[in-house]
Amino acid sequence: MKICPQCHHHFNQPNWHCPACGYTPPSLEGHLSFAPQLAAASKGFDALAFPILAKLEAKNFWFRSRNHLIIYAIKRYFPRAKNFLEIGCGTGFVLQGIEKNFPHLSCSGSEIFSSGLELASQRLSKTTLFQMDARQIPFIEEFDIIGAFDVLEHIEQDWDVLRQVYQALQMGGGIILTVPQHPWLWSPVDDYAHHFRRYRAKELQTKVDNAGFRIMRGCLKRVRVVANYASRLTMIRIIAM
Ligand SMILES: [Zn+2]
Repeated sequence: MKICPQCHHHFNQPNWHCPACGYTPPSLEGHLSFAPQLAAASKGFDALAFPILAKLEAKNFWFRSRNHLIIYAIKRYFPRAKNFLEIGCGTGFVLQGIEKNFPHLSCSGSEIFSSGLELASQRLSKTTLFQMDARQIPFIEEFDIIGAFDVLEHIEQDWDVLRQVYQALQMGGGIILTVPQHPWLWSPVDDYAHHFRRYRAKELQTKVDNAGFRIMRGCLKRVRVVANYASRLTMIRIIAM
């Protein structure tokens, strides 16, 4: 279901024209925009990095390996999922892998920066793209899977994002997260990348827990998956509602 960004009315219809207040979100550079005031600049990332990323992702071991992990997690934990939303989709490299591996999955991608969406739209063939602030997700009980891959550490209010993700998921759906791990690995690269933090496993676990998720290892029904990811360290967490 959609949530009107203007009056917060919940409605279920194909277009974004709110039946309660008549508001329709504007279109910005060809994409629906839910937070146009943030589309050009935000302190969590430097949008100038997008063209550089777009050139190196497909050949880089780190991005390729991360895609393999994400695709594994979807196959393993969400075999019946019908739709997927990626938050902070950047240049669309992850969604490109998901489109290819899950042709029947209905995909959406959101990004706060319009410049990321422009590059993503060149890569993707069937994904719906929109400009959005992850702290205000205009959906309720809509998605089977939501992914945020190396996104949370760019957002000061990561707890707000997790709460919004929880609300936007359907019962039985799940979240797949990758984040940089271990504060002791902090380096100038984290400063350069505008990270607010690197995570301890316990910190992420507590934040996910506080958002309403409940961790249940080994439960394959109604699971939520959180992957803690550092360049050489990966942990998969299975979490149920
Ligand atoms: Zn409205």
